[in-house]
Amino acid sequence: MLKKELEIYTFGDLLQHFPIRHIDKTKINTIAEINYQTDYIQIAGKLIQFDIIGEKRSKRLVAQLKDATGTIELTWFQGISWIQKSLYIGTEYLVFGKTGFFNGKPQMVHPEIESFVPAKLGGKAFLEPVYPSTEKLKAKGLNGRQLAKLTYSLLELIKPADLSENIPESIVKELKLLGRYESYINIHFPSTDQHYKKALERLKFEEFFIAQVRLQLVRLQRNAQSRGVVFERVGPYFNEFYDQYLPFELTGAQKRVVKEIRQDTARGRQMNRLLQGDVGSGKTMVALLSMLLAADNSYQSALMAPTEILAQQHYQGLTQLLNKMPVEVALLTGSTKTAERKRILAGLLNDDIHLVVGTHAIIEDKVQFKNLGLVIVDEQHRFGVAQRAKLWTKSVIPPHVLVMTATPIPRTLAMTAYGDLDYSIMDELPPGRIPITTVQRNEMARASVMGFVKEEIEKGRQAYFIYPLIEESEKLSYEDLMQGYEQVKSFFPEPRYKISMVHGKQPPEQKELNMQRFVSGDTQIMVSTTVIEVGVNVPNASVMVIESAEKFGLSQLHQLRGRVGRGSEKSFCILLTGSKASKEARERINIMCATNDGFKVAEKDLEMRGPGDIEGTRQSGALNFKLASIVNDKGLLQLAQQKAEQIVERDLHLEQPENALLKNYLTQQHTKVGWSKIA
Ligand code: ADP
Ligand code: MG
Repeated sequence: MLKKELEIYTFGDLLQHFPIRHIDKTKINTIAEINYQTDYIQIAGKLIQFDIIGEKRSKRLVAQLKDATGTIELTWFQGISWIQKSLYIGTEYLVFGKTGFFNGKPQMVHPEIESFVPAKLGGKAFLEPVYPSTEKLKAKGLNGRQLAKLTYSLLELIKPADLSENIPESIVKELKLLGRYESYINIHFPSTDQHYKKALERLKFEEFFIAQVRLQLVRLQRNAQSRGVVFERVGPYFNEFYDQYLPFELTGAQKRVVKEIRQDTARGRQMNRLLQGDVGSGKTMVALLSMLLAADNSYQSALMAPTEILAQQHYQGLTQLLNKMPVEVALLTGSTKTAERKRILAGLLNDDIHLVVGTHAIIEDKVQFKNLGLVIVDEQHRFGVAQRAKLWTKSVIPPHVLVMTATPIPRTLAMTAYGDLDYSIMDELPPGRIPITTVQRNEMARASVMGFVKEEIEKGRQAYFIYPLIEESEKLSYEDLMQGYEQVKSFFPEPRYKISMVHGKQPPEQKELNMQRFVSGDTQIMVSTTVIEVGVNVPNASVMVIESAEKFGLSQLHQLRGRVGRGSEKSFCILLTGSKASKEARERINIMCATNDGFKVAEKDLEMRGPGDIEGTRQSGALNFKLASIVNDKGLLQLAQQKAEQIVERDLHLEQPENALLKNYLTQQHTKVGWSKIA
């Protein structure tokens, strides 16, 4: 039962099944105190009567409990036979539960009940823990209180040595942390609220600290040990491009990041860098300059994109920028034709191709490079960690890796989910951008929205209409899209207006063609699902209408919105919503209307959804914290990161005596010994 319902397999799991709150046993309320406002309450009294009444589904156990001030009715619909066995008339019971009224009389349904003996651990009274327990367990009579008893017995058996310290003493002292053993006692059975808080703080810190030590070990050991190809010189490719073909002045942030990358790649160790930049901050140019740097040092580069469309667009963009340069660029995707594929594979192997742009097709085993020196992963959240790792095995010395995010990630999330990478931030947009105006409109106002879009198109601009694509019901969204297409067409009739439509079900050539017609301005309107989401760049598009905006997540909305506001014209994002939008959906929309800053949007997204749901980090074990929260315990995380970094910097292999316990703990965790299974 414990295993199935609560995933408790070992004593360790039981110790880490933490209480959701504590009740003060010294605080026992009287029955007379119960009123309509009372929520959960604890009372003590004598059992004066119990009966089983009703038949079949209405069968229930009803008991009367009496204290000096009155009587309350206790009712159970489930686990009747089990509960019945533990009830004795005339005995004193302690009862805890949520109160309600039935026919004007107070009652509790499925209260926790036990015979009334003041609880003590080591001779001292304590606050009693309340554990999360599932309905199924409750029905079998295993409620929070039973779990408390189990945990209590376990803690009585455990000695300090079983829960030995794993944080170096100097840190425990400096931060005045409670010891590990004491913390486990006090998180379950604290004698005061103060003790509980100290225990909680310590265990939260421990969670962050251990995770950070692991990440810093990976990062700093790799930095120290890994060999990396050396980009020692800035040569003709980079210089010629920079001096003659760079279409604009780099922003300060772009310059800074290029410099960081240059330093990183010059020192003979592998670069593993996360580049965080808001939508439109110009990450592509940073990628291009890095690839030219690789070429100057006789290394090939690969640029991986999450979708075919984006790979194609990168390819076109790069070939255009490089058209007067002697740089060979190739495009390799799932739909590359056999002959072309053959040519590319040969070209990569004999170093005729400097730069390959593609989708995950690049990491297939058949693709071999002569001299791969740099891998850039664009909009990385679509790529799994394993896929990335595969790329590293493509040369003897692993290539440098630059991961570029689609939208910013909050700092705390980056610290935990990508803590093993170094990271750069581009927090500056190219000059001259006019902020996008974002508004929310009800679906009912579609006609006036269409009127507005028409005005923009008359001014020579282009517009996007985006429809949600819901994974679970692809068919439905497809029909929605088609309906939407017809609707848009009726507002914007041919031949005056031309519409492109792009969705996931089209063959790649058709998708490409439709996309291309929009990019070249041949069509004024793009109707699409979120395949357009990442990276696509059409500066003349100044309006985006997002249908059923309540169905999108925050960072997705922000990413979508980033498709407009890329040119010199004022741009608009119109979020159409139905009237049934939930509270959270309305909050998301409000945030979108309030700010254009991707870093702010990301913070909000994390606050609202929690780290587990942020795209791309779902499988990340680094986020499995039981107590700590990267949203609510930012300060503690920062502290843990600092301390972990200091320790690993000073003692890269944890060989110093003061780190012995920590090392020991990490090894034990790694091999998962230490706790015997619960029988
Ligand atoms: P993202 O960071 O979202 O990938 P892109 O690399 O697609 O952004 O760049 C967005 C747009 O800004 C492109 O049209 C690009 O040419 C332009 N751009 C990039 N850097 C600069 C700059 N320093 N000055 C002016 N425009 C720039
Ligand atoms: Mg991009």
